[in-house]
Amino acid sequence: MQLMTGDEYVESIRNMNWNIWMGGEKIENHVDNPILRPSLNCLKLSYDMALDPAYEDLMTVTSHLTGNKINRFSHIHRSTDDLMKKVKMQRLMGRKTGSCFQRCVICDGSNALYATTYDIDQKYGTAYFERFKRYMIDVQNKDLIVAGALTDPKGDRSIPPTKQSDPDMYLRVVERRGDGVVVSGAKAHLTGITNAHEVFVMPTMALSPEDKDYAIAFSVPTDAQGITIIVGRQSCDERKLEDGDIDVGNSVFGGVEGLTIFDRVFVPNERIFLNGETDFVGLLVERFAGYHRNSYGGCKVGVGDVLIGAAALIADYNGIAKASHVKDKIIEMIHLNETLFSGGIASSANGVKTASGNYYIDLLLANVCKQNVTRFPYEICRLAEDIAGGIVVTAPSEKDLRSDAVGHYVEKYLKGANGVSAETRLRALRLIENLTLGTSAVGYRTESMHGAGSPQAQRIMIQRQANLEEKKKLAKTLARIEQ
Ligand code: SF4
Ligand code: FE
Repeated sequence: MQLMTGDEYVESIRNMNWNIWMGGEKIENHVDNPILRPSLNCLKLSYDMALDPAYEDLMTVTSHLTGNKINRFSHIHRSTDDLMKKVKMQRLMGRKTGSCFQRCVICDGSNALYATTYDIDQKYGTAYFERFKRYMIDVQNKDLIVAGALTDPKGDRSIPPTKQSDPDMYLRVVERRGDGVVVSGAKAHLTGITNAHEVFVMPTMALSPEDKDYAIAFSVPTDAQGITIIVGRQSCDERKLEDGDIDVGNSVFGGVEGLTIFDRVFVPNERIFLNGETDFVGLLVERFAGYHRNSYGGCKVGVGDVLIGAAALIADYNGIAKASHVKDKIIEMIHLNETLFSGGIASSANGVKTASGNYYIDLLLANVCKQNVTRFPYEICRLAEDIAGGIVVTAPSEKDLRSDAVGHYVEKYLKGANGVSAETRLRALRLIENLTLGTSAVGYRTESMHGAGSPQAQRIMIQRQANLEEKKKLAKTLARIEQ
């Protein structure tokens, strides 16, 4: 099967045997659940756009593994052009959804594993690379969504996995069998987990030799025996249960994250891609993080486009669009957003070929890109709130607008400039609220800080990659310092 339609994708998720919990209850039909459905819609769109000729160039590509046309999210990059198109595709998807669209980790994780399984085989004579290629062919041919699980709960952050008082603070192998391994533990903040066919698990950080049981990378179906998903609560998520569509701000799309528990989950040998090679874990994590930090130069920029558009709209509706300080604030938002995009494109354009044959981003530039992402969206949010005014958090509800008793007051006193109705104005304000403080703030604001690694993680990589000694030499040469 090739390139599912969005509807086929939705049915494929519906037909799985899920164990999803939210608000203390087991969710029997998450596909039609009003809180969860917007997140599924993002993935559905990624299928429909791949079949739309208008987006074919960005959304699809020819697989080097099969020669078939595949969704770009499942592609192993063959050039810097592929890396740039990935970022452009992510910006496009961010613009269409105004949300985290959750499909990128398979792209970033699979490219990291492709290169690293090759390297492990070179050193140890293992056969992970061919196994991983077979897995990717399966993912591509079936057009699957694979969620990526990296972050362990970590317990006491100051001590390594084996020293934790509770050994499950990092996911680990608890039993080794002839046909595979059994794992236990949990992964936190698991983006898109309720909308994925498979979950792809990797260690969260570099490990030392005694942490061998924690050095495991594998993929299993998201409905495998022993997996429990507890959906993360988002700000204002219960507005999705109300009648009407104004107060949610973005009623069609959204993100989802979940705490995912692996309670003695069996992983067959064919789905294990790293098993005990602790010396390669750091490289795998670094590569995955590098790719994913490059991705943020696309996805967050696309969502930033939506927020800038909403700020410009509310300026029009409030009759302040011509004020010079408002124009300047919008320019500043654009400048910040395009600076993020520059980091995404530059880290792609400067990519390099790995020994395995795929292309890897420029690690220093990808980390600089993501470091900027930990800051600029906050400033873009601040400027959007500045332009929108305090009403972004004080406006009456849609129920008041629709009320027979007080609706006319809302209409009268919240209308905008030049005949703009209260409803139109409220829709723009609620979208700004959604992106800065509501459900989409998970994907735009806080995820900008912590997704793909918190700011300090990038600073460590920037320090490592910057080659300060070479810069000192440059200075010495010009200053004619002999030593
Ligand atoms: Fe993709 Fe961005 Fe969401 Fe990560 S945060 S999954 S890169 S949209
Ligand atoms: Fe993310």
